[in-house]
Amino acid sequence: MSVRARIASTVRPEVQQIARYHVPDARGLVKLDAMENPYPLPPALGRELADAITHAKINRYPDADASLARAALRNALALPEGVDILLGNGSDELIQIIASTVAHPGGAVVAPEPSFVMYRRTALIANAPFVPVDLRADFSLDVDAMAAAIERHAPSLVFIANPNNPTGNLFAREDLERLIRAAPGLVVVDEAYYAYADASFLPHVLEFPNVVVLRTVSKIGMAGLRLGYVVGHPDWIAEFDKLRPPYNVGALVQEALPVLLRHHEVFDAQAAAIRHERARLSAALRELDLDVFPSQANFVLVRVPDALAAHAALRAARILVKNLDGTHALLGNCLRITVGTPDENDALLDALADHLKGSMK
Ligand SMILES: *Cc1c(COP(=O)(O)O)cnc(C)c1O
Repeated sequence: MSVRARIASTVRPEVQQIARYHVPDARGLVKLDAMENPYPLPPALGRELADAITHAKINRYPDADASLARAALRNALALPEGVDILLGNGSDELIQIIASTVAHPGGAVVAPEPSFVMYRRTALIANAPFVPVDLRADFSLDVDAMAAAIERHAPSLVFIANPNNPTGNLFAREDLERLIRAAPGLVVVDEAYYAYADASFLPHVLEFPNVVVLRTVSKIGMAGLRLGYVVGHPDWIAEFDKLRPPYNVGALVQEALPVLLRHHEVFDAQAAAIRHERARLSAALRELDLDVFPSQANFVLVRVPDALAAHAALRAARILVKNLDGTHALLGNCLRITVGTPDENDALLDALADHLKGSMK
């Protein structure tokens, strides 16, 4: 029997049917496709980091509770009294851990769409039905439709990315609270873009018995670290902790995080610069007569006349953005553009203006 035949008879059919999460090759390109912070670590901070990891005990397993890293986060975030915190190898891992903890074939996962693609994939991992609920055309939450889906499916898990990826908008807190009250299970408010938004649910996390807040350091300048965290009532955190692989945060990351957070002013200043550039980029894209959706994240969603052609023209100019056309009915001809440095944004605007001029001929 061949390997192919054995796989066909062994691997879960729903896994055989999907492709792996595709990451495009970005070598030599201006990378505006993945919501990274474009600013590298200042050299002095890099040296301090190098010093810190010199002391890492590479021959030993890391602290399974990541106590120092968790304490550093608690400090940096001024967490509300009475919450606990669990770390993951990126928030992607925590999404999987949380889903494995609560979702199952009889306990569905509900999420708005378009939203973060890992929610659907993680339902598959947990062997749970996935129930998407479309956003309205202006990308606001369709609260009635969400409430109806919650009523009908009694989901064990609801994911809400706020601000939402890939649309960039922030949902109203009243809407979130209505869904949290309606949900019979757990609601995860995913704040990957909190640093770029005007509001956070974190101060309210203990006001409800069924909500946790998920965050990551990826979008604020530490995507390479792979570190996410979930904040909530200690009893929820204790349940997730049962399914966490014991050494999921490596010794190097545990040494690095306190050093990086001690210099949070570096990342705060970068976030402020990115917010400033977001406003400039959005205005300049509107000047090109494009539909630009309001963003509270470090990217801008824009509708162009022909997303495939614009994406290719930008790629030819060595700029990589994300083409969302075809991923959801509401995202026809939409590009998601991560806010870069001023020079990168200028290069993008020039290339896009050239393309739009050329294609009008
Ligand atoms: C990027 C992103 C994540 C994943 O972050 P990692 O910590 O890098 O795994 C989670 N949720 C949303 C909404 C995101 O956009």
